[in-house]
Amino acid sequence: MKVSMWYNNTDIRVEEVPTPSPGKGELLVRVISCGICGSDVVEWYRLPRAPLVMGHEVGVEVVETGEGVSRFKKGDRLFIAPKVPCLQCTYCLKGHYPQCSEVKDRLPGGFAEYILVPKEIVNHGSYLLPDNLSYDQATFIEPLACVVRAQRISSLEAGDTVLILGSGMSGLLHTKLARLNGCRVMVTDINPRKLEMAKEYGADVVADAKSDVPGQLMAAFDQKADAVIVTTSSLSALTQAWQSVDMGGVVVLFAVPDPDKVVAVPVNDFWRKEIRILTSYYCGPPDIEEAIELIASGNIFVDDLITHRLPLSETAKGFQMLLEGGDAVKIIVNPQSNR
Ligand SMILES: [Zn+2]
Ligand SMILES: [Zn+2]
Repeated sequence: MKVSMWYNNTDIRVEEVPTPSPGKGELLVRVISCGICGSDVVEWYRLPRAPLVMGHEVGVEVVETGEGVSRFKKGDRLFIAPKVPCLQCTYCLKGHYPQCSEVKDRLPGGFAEYILVPKEIVNHGSYLLPDNLSYDQATFIEPLACVVRAQRISSLEAGDTVLILGSGMSGLLHTKLARLNGCRVMVTDINPRKLEMAKEYGADVVADAKSDVPGQLMAAFDQKADAVIVTTSSLSALTQAWQSVDMGGVVVLFAVPDPDKVVAVPVNDFWRKEIRILTSYYCGPPDIEEAIELIASGNIFVDDLITHRLPLSETAKGFQMLLEGGDAVKIIVNPQSNR
């Protein structure tokens, strides 16, 4: 089978590897759709495991079941989580699923014609797709689940004012969800096309990220933000976050700057104002279930975020487009397409 092997962001090669066959408790699935995630192109985060096959936003079809698999059969349409928590350790019991200390298996990457799904993930991380949820839509389940989790831990309520910094795929999903939940939303970006999309998909106000963001927020809502959600790694966005959050409010770091960057936090000011800083990383089973429900019900429409569909042979081009930060939002690789 063919896979896209990632060595670094500028060296991604289509390679031929043996097609695996499922052992006891395993599944062999055909990858129909796999999204390129913003985190896939974060080189410092991925390099330690290179070379590797990436891709964790998948819509797949079961082709073969291993001995003893009874939950799924050939032809089933699935979303498969990249890793699953044990649900039993102290972290899981407190709902900190992404911190689970017992993660046993990782899903091999989805930029491939097939994936051999490990037993743990077959049992606890595989979800049947509702009939009306397409393979392409399935690629939004994981990213939307992360967004659901971030907004859950920030305790957003209807009527809250939310500032979303960055209008890429995550920023736009945050926009749609915050709007669905009755929040007032302002979104920033440096790309005018992405701001147009934010406006179209529910932002009350949009602003150029290079402008006076805190000033524009005040002008629009006459108050600072109850929550600021940072979906970009830019350092200037963090400064805007500190300046835009209201007393008693929360800054959610959904994305962070590169590890060599030093971030200054105005802790004295925040101490008096009881401002909280939260980080949000990945998602857990309840978030995945909620994301599936939100997409299947049509409450969160995702198709309008798809800007590109590429065959496996053009995975490298997809990475390049995301890195260049142009108009590309959601790029989906369809490994079965031989276009
Ligand atoms: Zn992702
Ligand atoms: Zn656990």
